[in-house]
Amino acid sequence: MNTDIFYVISSILLIHGIKLLGKTATARKGNFISAFGMALAVAATLWQHPPQNILLTLTVALTGAYIGLLMAIKVQMTAMPEMVALFNGFGGMASVAVAIIEGIKLNYIPAIYYDTLIYFSLFTICLTLVVGGITFSGSLVAYGKLSRKLPTSSINFRGQEWVDVILFVLLLLSAYMWIFTHSVWSFYMLIALSFVGGCVFVLHIGGGDMPVIISLLNSLSGVAACAAGLILFNKVLIVAGCLVGTSGLILTLIMCKAMNRPVKKVLLGGFASISKNKQKSTRGTYKPISTEDAYYILEAAQTVAIVPGYGLAVAQAQHAVKDLAQKLTDNGADVFYAIHPVAGRMPGHMNILLAEADVDYDQMTELEPSNARFGNTDVAIVVGANDVVNPAAVENPDSPLYGMPILEVFNAKTVFVLKRGQGTGFSGLENELFFKDNVRMIYGDAKATLTQLSAEFKE
Ligand code: NDP
Repeated sequence: MNTDIFYVISSILLIHGIKLLGKTATARKGNFISAFGMALAVAATLWQHPPQNILLTLTVALTGAYIGLLMAIKVQMTAMPEMVALFNGFGGMASVAVAIIEGIKLNYIPAIYYDTLIYFSLFTICLTLVVGGITFSGSLVAYGKLSRKLPTSSINFRGQEWVDVILFVLLLLSAYMWIFTHSVWSFYMLIALSFVGGCVFVLHIGGGDMPVIISLLNSLSGVAACAAGLILFNKVLIVAGCLVGTSGLILTLIMCKAMNRPVKKVLLGGFASISKNKQKSTRGTYKPISTEDAYYILEAAQTVAIVPGYGLAVAQAQHAVKDLAQKLTDNGADVFYAIHPVAGRMPGHMNILLAEADVDYDQMTELEPSNARFGNTDVAIVVGANDVVNPAAVENPDSPLYGMPILEVFNAKTVFVLKRGQGTGFSGLENELFFKDNVRMIYGDAKATLTQLSAEFKE
């Protein structure tokens, strides 16, 4: 039986699934459809190329699926970005495994038998090893940074450009020697250098640039899968790889735009190293307010903006924030959620959290329309957001955030900032918002504070 028809169906399902992922309301369905498309592709491949040991193949596949399922069920919302980083890395490693096996097979073929097809395979194997290897080790470093097991800032050292150049030249040289001089040791050298390259590449990057690198690594895992598809001449792997590669790249560009950071600058690293320099001079005084006093201002408010950030995810306060929004609405206020595209630790982080609490999609407002509304907003409640509301981005040309589009909450009449203490955001920068005259701090875990504010309405 020709499996191409199943490959076509599965490609259509993957494309349709990705399209549905574009909207919060249809994302869950999109995920199921894509997963079904992938399962169909795997089943068709196993049908066309029955494995020698079907029991072993199924055991390995089901164990992997079980581990993935456990990880997905157990993961905390705050740890989602780390998990995405790990999954990108495993995708890269799967492609590397294909390339290593096919490369070892070719190492046994005497050079006199090399023809155009073998040279094509050698080239695609090199591509898969390099891109997949960089994705794997780079993703592990990204995982370490996001989970704070490694320093989150970019690690730069003197002469780093030379290390990068030497690594790049050695990579090219190893690939050349393996393809054209058939030297077996350069094949293993290429694998090792790819892994080292990934570590060095991501160590350079840190601070607020991490979201971009996660989506870029996602894109690279797709490119590696596509190259692995070319090695195996597997059509659906080529299509799936292209889809992941291009959608990851589009997301990378969107994220760069949202942070006003050129891709080149992100790739060269150095975010946090600049950031430490120019902070202290801007320090003012924090003006705290109790929940009782905050209630009186909220009670009189006609329009209220809720601005969620990473702290909302840490506090798991999505249900508490919805409760408060309901109390405000019942009190006659017009409530909207102002969502920054890079709030949290991964694209769409806030949308997912709020959707989990059944917040109406119509109430979620994007960056530009939110900014247009803040001037007419009585109270903006900033729930665990920091970098995405830092006015230095529009007011301080010395700040590394300068030029990044932010939610301009400072234009609201009153701003309440809910956070535990005086901790900085992911970028490690001081936030000049907290010292403004119309801003009041409500200290404590966001969920507890929101619950107290809701309780005030009851009383
Ligand atoms: P930030 O990381 O800038 O700030 C989060 C704030 O939440 C902190 O200041 C912290 O202050 C507070 N907080 C933490 N826990 C709690 C809690 N339990 N209750 C109340 N407050 C809490 O978050 P933003 O969302 O504003 O900004 C996101 C940043 O992360 C951007 O720089 C972005 O570039 C970056 N990033 C984004 C990714 C993405 O894809 N969206 C991925 C990776 C990074 P305190 O400690 O005082 O409580």
